Amino acid sequence: KNYTKEDIRQMAIDDDVKFLRLMFTDLFGTIKNVEVPISQLAKLLDNEIMFDGSSIDGFVRIEESDMYLIPDLSTWMVFPWSSERGKIARVICEVRKSDGEMFEGDPRNNLIRVLDDMKKAGFTSFDIGPEPEFFLFKMDADGKPTLELNDKGSYFDMAPLDLGENCRRDIVLTLEEMGFDVEAAHHEVAPGQHEIDFKYADALEAADNIQTFKLVVKTVARKYGLFASFMAKPLSGINGSGMHLNMSLFNNDQDAFYDETGDLQLSETAYFFLGGLLKHARSFTAICNPTVNSYKRLVPGFEAPVYVSWSGSNRSPLIRVPSDRGNSTRLELRSVDPTANPYLAIASVLEAGLDGLKNEIQPEDSIDRNIYRMNEAERRENHILNLPDTLHNALKDLAADDVMKEAMGEHLYESFISAKNMEYNSYRTQVSQWERDQYLELY
Ligand code: ADP
Ligand code: MG
Ligand code: MG
Ligand code: MG
Ligand code: MG
Repeated sequence: KNYTKEDIRQMAIDDDVKFLRLMFTDLFGTIKNVEVPISQLAKLLDNEIMFDGSSIDGFVRIEESDMYLIPDLSTWMVFPWSSERGKIARVICEVRKSDGEMFEGDPRNNLIRVLDDMKKAGFTSFDIGPEPEFFLFKMDADGKPTLELNDKGSYFDMAPLDLGENCRRDIVLTLEEMGFDVEAAHHEVAPGQHEIDFKYADALEAADNIQTFKLVVKTVARKYGLFASFMAKPLSGINGSGMHLNMSLFNNDQDAFYDETGDLQLSETAYFFLGGLLKHARSFTAICNPTVNSYKRLVPGFEAPVYVSWSGSNRSPLIRVPSDRGNSTRLELRSVDPTANPYLAIASVLEAGLDGLKNEIQPEDSIDRNIYRMNEAERRENHILNLPDTLHNALKDLAADDVMKEAMGEHLYESFISAKNMEYNSYRTQVSQWERDQYLELY
């Protein structure tokens, strides 16, 4: 999809596009939009669209409030949902400062920078296959999400259709119309929970896809009177939502993790990359699991990882090597949840893996037993560390790791750590219902 300006002009006419949605992502992974009428297309194509960056989270530097949005033409896409007043097209933009320099606080720019380092290390692409999970909740009369799950059986009426299944089917069809290659869509273990897997793509495209995916899921769900949430652990006692990241390095058409003659048919590249992932696992957790609530998912008993380990046979460790080989040889990181900013999460795991390659970090032996049945002493014997158990502890690990600073660049690294510490402190000073239930009458 290497569109030229002329292609874009023509497609805008052919598809009767009336509005342009210029998208970028802030520090927290939230999609930001600047919507302009189609009359601004010429200006957009000439890189002349400006916006006020001072109001965007993580962009906070008043002196740089005038910023440019430079469109990445390859991301042009017309939303299939049309309004009576014409269609809306989106294009993902790069944020530049008023002097035309790349803005280092733009997480997408940062990923492009880390991908350049990967190319210098001798690879042509870093491929990511995400497995995002989400819940569908019913909405109340005011359009606010409730905690009522939408599932067959939980319904009082005898409607023959399961709204959740229909909604998911509609999501898949919409994604396909938008050019997604959906590989699987299924109901998850928890009631009301769904997973949709789309085909792996180059890291930048995969991160863009994740953002578009969330937008589509939320938009279509609303049509069904449902609210889609990517919160990591919306309900206690049942599984939370993860977003496993499958990853591989490619050299042209060759999966660099595959080696027919290697141990488990994995290459030395795969082992060093894995070594780097394991070494930095605790410090990229704050990036891959960035909310207070994320840590309520990373507990034993709900299929989410808790310990730093890998396995080629077991499905429960932090990093799994799925059994496919050839060009499907990949590492699957199972801690990530969908609240992560995909640009930052992918940059952090790539930098961790590249550090493993540069410093030839050998991974510990795989753990193919059930770690959850080991006691602490056995885990210590096997050098198995815990993942951080709170955002607070995760941030301490992040703040102590220079490789993660390199992964995010100084601007994003500093703003992320300070914003997330504030978030944690705000949580820490709240008194919850659980505490009152436990203590109010007892003392
Ligand atoms: P699971 O068995 O964990 O449920 P899925 O089958 O749901 O895994 O998802 C597998 C994901 O891995 C898909 O998104 C697929 O496109 C992706 N994938 C396949 N080959 C590669 C590869 N070489 N690199 C990265 N991702 C890959
Ligand atoms: Mg899956
Ligand atoms: Mg599968
Ligand atoms: Mg799943
Ligand atoms: Mg998986």
